This record gives sequence, C-alpha cells and structure tokens, in this order.
Amino acid sequence: MNDLAPYQISTAERDDNSPAPQEDGLGCHAGKEKMRAAAQAAGMSETLGRYAQDYPQGPHDQPQSMCPAFGSLRVGLRMRRTAMVLSGSACCVYGLTFTSHFYGARRTVGYVPFSSETLVTGKLFEDIRAAAHQLADPEKYDAVVIINLCVPTASGVPLRLLPREINGVRIIGVDVPGFGVPTHAEAKDVLAGAMLRVARLEAEQGPVQAPRGARAGMPTIALIGEMFPADPMQIGAMLEPLGLAAGPVVPTREWRELYGALDCAAAAAIHPFYAACVREFEAAGRNVVGSAPVGYQGTAAWLENIGAACNVGRDKIDAAKARVLPAIKGALAATPIKGRITLSGYEGSELLVGRLLVESGADLRYVGTACPRTRFSEADRDWLEAKGVHVQFRASLEQDLAAFDEFKPDLAIGTTPVVQKAKQNATPALYFTNLISARPLMGVAGAGSLAKVVNAAIGNRARFDEMNDFFAGVGVGFAAGVWQDTPQDRVDFRKKQRARMARKPAEEMGSC
Ligand code: SF4
Repeated sequence: MNDLAPYQISTAERDDNSPAPQEDGLGCHAGKEKMRAAAQAAGMSETLGRYAQDYPQGPHDQPQSMCPAFGSLRVGLRMRRTAMVLSGSACCVYGLTFTSHFYGARRTVGYVPFSSETLVTGKLFEDIRAAAHQLADPEKYDAVVIINLCVPTASGVPLRLLPREINGVRIIGVDVPGFGVPTHAEAKDVLAGAMLRVARLEAEQGPVQAPRGARAGMPTIALIGEMFPADPMQIGAMLEPLGLAAGPVVPTREWRELYGALDCAAAAAIHPFYAACVREFEAAGRNVVGSAPVGYQGTAAWLENIGAACNVGRDKIDAAKARVLPAIKGALAATPIKGRITLSGYEGSELLVGRLLVESGADLRYVGTACPRTRFSEADRDWLEAKGVHVQFRASLEQDLAAFDEFKPDLAIGTTPVVQKAKQNATPALYFTNLISARPLMGVAGAGSLAKVVNAAIGNRARFDEMNDFFAGVGVGFAAGVWQDTPQDRVDFRKKQRARMARKPAEEMGSC
C-alpha cells in the first residue's frame, strides 16, 4: 500500500461515497455532533458504529472524564518494546503527554503534527506512514501504535491503510476520538482489543513466540482489566485447587503475553467493559466469566462460575471454596467498616469495591461508574441492588454529587470533584483512583484491605469539623475577593478569626 491517493479525495475509501468533509473550521471547537458527522462523511461510519455497539452511551451522552485517548496511550506506554505515536491537535497532544508523564510514563511519546494544508492534501497520512517507517526497528520494537485523535478521525485519516508490518514490526492504527469512545477506561479496550486481534490472527497462521517465563503447567484463566499487582497472585492461589492457574492480565505488558492470554482455558472479565477484548477471546473459542473473587459471596460465586466454564468437577470446586472462604469470612469479620458511604469512579472496578464494602458491613447507598452496563456487570449489579444500593452506570458528575447530597454519607469515595465537594462540606472523602484502586481487592488480601483506610478516613470527621469551623467564611462572600458592590462590614469576620486563634493552641488545629 505505497501509492495511496490523498484520503480527502479518495471517495473509493468512503463507505457512502459522500463528498469530502469540509476542513475549514473543523477542530476541537466544532463540537461533538459536527465532528461525528464529518467522520461519517469521511468513511469512518464502520468504526463509529462498532464503538457505538461496544461502548453504548446513555442514559446521557458521556460522563465527564479526561480525554479518552489517554486510556489507549497509557496501555501502549506500559508495554515493553512498543512505540506510541499520536496524531492530533497540538493542544490535545500536549495534554496527553503531560498526563502520561505525570503518571510516570518515562517513555517518549511520538507526535505527527499537522496543519490545515497537510490535513486537506493527504500529506498527514504520508507523514504518519513515514513516521511508522522511521520507527519500525525490529531491534527496538515489537509494535508501533498510531492513535488518531479527534480531528484526524473526523477528517477520515485512514490508519487502516497503513502497512500491517514494516521490517517485521507490527503497525497498529487506532482511532480514539472523544466523540466515539466515551471514557478513557474504554479506550484501554480499544487498543488492547486491536492488539489481541492481531495476535489472534498471527496465532492462527502458525507458531508464535513463547511466554517469557515458564509455562504454568496447568490450564490458565486470562484476567481482563488492570488490577493491583498482588491480585493476580491471590487469584492464582484461589484457582490452584481447581487445577487452574492465573494467566496474563490484559492489557498486557508485552506483546508475547497476548498469545499467552489467548491460550487460556477461559477468560475472566474482572473489569466488565472490555468489549473488544471479549470479542477476541470469544473468537478464539474461549468462555468469558464476569465478576471477580471479592468478599465471601463474590468469591464463592466466582469459583463456581470459573469451575463451570472450565468443566471442573464438583469435588474440586468445593475444595477450592473450602480452602479460601473461611479465611475471607474471618478477615471480613476482623476488620468491619462502620459508616454510610457513597462511591463513584471511572475505573470499572466500582461495583466490585461496592460489594467488598457491603460485605465489610458498610452502609453503602450509591455506586456510580462512568462505565456502561454490560452482561458482565449484571451479577454485581443484581447483588448490590438486592442490598439496597443504587447503582448508576454512565454516572455523570451531577448524579454523583446529587447522591452525596441525598445520602449525606460519613465518607464519600469518588473522583476529584466529588472529593472536593465532600471536603467543602466537612465530610471525609477518599480518591477512588489513588487510594482505593491502589489496594488489593481479591481473596483474603482484599477482604481486609479497605477497612484500614476507610475507617481511618471516617474517624477524621472531627478534624474536618474543626477545620471547617476555623476556615468558616474564607473564600465566600466578601472574602472571595470578588466584589460586585462596595464591600461593607468586614471587621466582624477578622475579629472572629483572631478570637478563634487566641482560644486554641496551634498544635490543636490539625493540618490539611
Ligand atoms: S483528542 Fe478529542 S477528546 Fe481528546 S483532548 Fe483532543 S478534542 Fe478533547
């Protein structure tokens, strides 16, 4: 494919023979609907249609979230021998590289810039192809990944026409527009699914690279969804009595693990939204099981379902349950959680965390997740709703905040703006991503892991009250520093603050 016509005039590549899109004025500012219409006119209907099926929107369009492409970028940046290249507006690329390095990427992010001229003439595609050729060094890379951001996707830059490989290095192009992929969590699936597809097709053609370490010696369960590093080990220990072992975690950390993942007895959709990955596992003839071994009841149900998916005998399933369930029950009883909690996040593990909180004794009222409802989240949703928990898929920030207002929790676990609102209301709060996702959830280790941080946070309420009292009035009214009218009567506030400080020694004030 070395003699392509510029994509803007190549109507043969457009699936509806519609006229070329208008480039003038097309940009991030054009709005989602215009971008989507332009992308459809530019031959991207099939891609957008697949995304609409894989990542259903609604009840509202799209939760507030960071740029979705970050999910794909992060998956690639965490893989060995994988080069990542972005194609999009400079401002988007700046934000994405900034966030990548904030999260410790320590890897170069490639960028193919464009101007309206290179976009209109098709030169951008030529530049992307040249970049792929430049990077495709088999000594350094297994794969070069190119991500089309919003504007190149809306303009129909045809990454599907890139060579499939150059010098033995796979070239993988994915479109990850904000108007087609709702969250960065689902964008992880876009790239992981694209890679699994390539690996599956390669494995169907003949022998492929063996895993780096020794083989498990037992049939494996591939694990779908990023998780705390100790969790796959916990899962492996729980699977052993079933005659099974934990397989690779998808998204994988290197290319050859993709083959190992596909070579499983069954796959576990620990995170329920990986639609493209599930499609590849099912195309490879593998059963996919939902939920995860969290808490007593969650672990019992999961071991049953895994056993059934892999035709394991009743005696082994019972043995696996007998080995782990009493210890989980003991850990949950030893570390109870007391207090009313609301929970929201965008990782995909929100329902699992919710189950663990309920089994730990928490009065959980609300679980909001930015991810969609899927067949793999049904069991967890049913379980939580049977316990009286409101489960909101595709939760918006407004819904998360309304839940906080309605339930008045002792602790809000959530995203940054939810935590901010809670703290402004003198309510203890924990960031889901930093403080909850970064803990084991599975098996015995998971059973006691949340209690310490959750109970410590709930126990801090008195400090919040004290801080609230101390800072009362700061940043509001005349103290906001934004005066619509001539300010009056400020003296009273300062007097009150001085009086408070005089009453309390500094060491009793607490700190933020
Ligand atoms: S790529 Fe799209 S969603 Fe991402 S920052 Fe740019 S305009 Fe926003």
